[in-house]
Amino acid sequence: MNQSETRATALALYPEDSREAAALLKQAVPLMVRHNIPPNPVHYALWYTYSKGVEPELNRHLDRVVKDFDSFPPESAAKLFREYIIRDELEDARAGQQQAINLVDGMERDVTRSVNGSRNFQDSLGHCLEMLESPLDTNLPTILNELQQSTQLMQDQQALFLFQLRAAQNEIKTLRDKLESTSLAATLDGLTQVLNRNAFNRVLEKALRKSPETVALVMLDIDHFKQFNDQYGHPLGDRVLEHVGQVLRNSLPAAAVAARYGGEEFCVILQGCTDLDSARVFAEQLRLKIQSLRIKARVTDTVLDTITASFGVALSKTGDSSESLLTRADDALYRAKRSGRNRVQ
Ligand code: GH3
Ligand code: MG
Ligand code: MG
Repeated sequence: MNQSETRATALALYPEDSREAAALLKQAVPLMVRHNIPPNPVHYALWYTYSKGVEPELNRHLDRVVKDFDSFPPESAAKLFREYIIRDELEDARAGQQQAINLVDGMERDVTRSVNGSRNFQDSLGHCLEMLESPLDTNLPTILNELQQSTQLMQDQQALFLFQLRAAQNEIKTLRDKLESTSLAATLDGLTQVLNRNAFNRVLEKALRKSPETVALVMLDIDHFKQFNDQYGHPLGDRVLEHVGQVLRNSLPAAAVAARYGGEEFCVILQGCTDLDSARVFAEQLRLKIQSLRIKARVTDTVLDTITASFGVALSKTGDSSESLLTRADDALYRAKRSGRNRVQ
């Protein structure tokens, strides 16, 4: 996935800025403490999402789990994590983990401060004790002693918590690395290296949810591709698809995402697009780039052929679902085919 795709996907999935994220984390942590939820990456991810409130079903599950068990069985956490967190694409996971890492960083700072604070407090209490060689109130040293002991206990607990946090932070980093490599395969189309259809559907839905009136959809279909396969064979057809994927990846403006929608059909989501004309201009540029591709024989390097594609463009409007927007783009594409191919409608 190229940088602009990554950025666009991350933006669509995690729109909150760092201040909003910090506010969410501030809500999540006390909830975890209240319900005795051990600090680990899975739990951070779940309770962060809980605080966000975007997955009502997850919130109901979590409410039920803490109510029924008065604790949080690890298998429930793992199941919810798989259902509500992992199912999202790589950027989801990466951004979520980054939030979790930020959370742990922040907590670690807070706890370190409070460990230092209580250590100072303990020192000053010890100092007070030394000064009270001939106390006026004989109860005072006892009280101070108790205070010092409870402070020591608090300090020990905080040190333990700090240790747990550090372990959790390492775990989060490992998890992020693993997810980065494994989720990539589930998100991208293997041949063309643009998003696969599943990931495309999720990104489109989220883009429409976030900004219902500023999503443009460009749908394109290679012309007479069956004929091309018949003439040159499937392997060369595959190479053409790879090149079209490359053209798309290299042409994306910021906040645009490309996907392979079907066999020789691709889609580009333009986020933050407010007029159909700019989407049409973008599609026209793609059309020219695809038309200028030279399909060469591998061995002789001679040009065998060129290809063209037809385009349908649609702009979202209030009340659009991903289906209705896709239908409009598909209808436009159909008109482009009917009116002679190699054109934008
Ligand atoms: P049109 O201009 O109307 O789109 O004609 P077309 O021949 O492109 O359309 P049609 O839908 O009849 O055929 C699509 C072809 O795309 C058929 C199939 O062989 C080819 N195709 C689909 N997926 C792949 C693939 O992964 N690799 C190759 N090489 N060909 C594919
Ligand atoms: Mg087709
Ligand atoms: Mg076709």
